[in-house]
Amino acid sequence: MISWSSIVGQEDAVSRLRRLVRGVRMPHALLFAGPESVGKYLTAKTLAAALLCESDDAPCGTCQACRLAENESHPDLVIVRPDKQNIKIGEIRKMQKDLSLAPYMAQRRVCIIDEADKMRDEAANSILKTLEEPVGDVVFILITAKRYQLLDTIRSRCMLVEFGAVPQSALARELVRRGASEEEADLAARLAGGRFAPAEAILSGGGQSSRQAAIDLFFSVPTMAEADIWQTASAWDACEREEVLARLMSLRLLVRDAMVYSADLKEEIINSDCLDRFAQAKSVWSQRTLSLFMHELVKRERSVKNNGNIKLVIEAMLLAWRSMIQRR
Ligand SMILES: [Zn+2]
Repeated sequence: MISWSSIVGQEDAVSRLRRLVRGVRMPHALLFAGPESVGKYLTAKTLAAALLCESDDAPCGTCQACRLAENESHPDLVIVRPDKQNIKIGEIRKMQKDLSLAPYMAQRRVCIIDEADKMRDEAANSILKTLEEPVGDVVFILITAKRYQLLDTIRSRCMLVEFGAVPQSALARELVRRGASEEEADLAARLAGGRFAPAEAILSGGGQSSRQAAIDLFFSVPTMAEADIWQTASAWDACEREEVLARLMSLRLLVRDAMVYSADLKEEIINSDCLDRFAQAKSVWSQRTLSLFMHELVKRERSVKNNGNIKLVIEAMLLAWRSMIQRR
């Protein structure tokens, strides 16, 4: 059921929006800005329901308007989202045409534009005109994780509502509510950096296995022979590029944790289930080696993102890491 209370860890944004809904003057354009996967879209839908709801205590969650808004089928709720890479001008024109008609059920209409930064010039200029000269009672909610890719002129027409990362404890509680054990939820919340989708990916089988592959690799680097390096690179090469990127992301957190461990900040460790292994490996690398590791890792991650040959990239990274350990 749609309700303000199902939004996790965004108290500031939510209380501000609730005040706006209760107040007399609702701004006609809002910009929800903040990291990916922290609840911006759910909040936009909840706000839409609140604006369309037929009850005094909006959103009630149970009236027809609330239920239709929740299913994204309310006739006065228009949702625009990118088709692959872009929001096409045709989508914006269609939305403008919809909005030029009188509301069907409610007193007003709501238009959500998800990933608004994906509007190219033509689409952006067209929406700008609509924001400058709104027709009828329409509330626009633009959502973005890349606010600086929006035109200044669009940003300045919207009231900014900022979203932050979901606090670790709130995220963990929500993951428990969704069925994870407390231990799993706590670890996933630490690893995910306050975002839902990565936390869920970690809890899913695939996420666990890519993290495990990164752990196996990281702690075996000091004892790797050349043959092991070729073998590991071939094994990684057999994975999808996305999977390799997920493993590299996990490696990054491991290198970070090794640095944190050697700085004696154990309570800050994200991969808290690997404490013993960090302890065992402590003498193998210095802070300086680890910062060289990180530098190398970031460089190789970029190559993988840019379609580099996975086998060659991983080989090069492991050879470099090994020589960094030997050199110290
Ligand atoms: Zn309602």
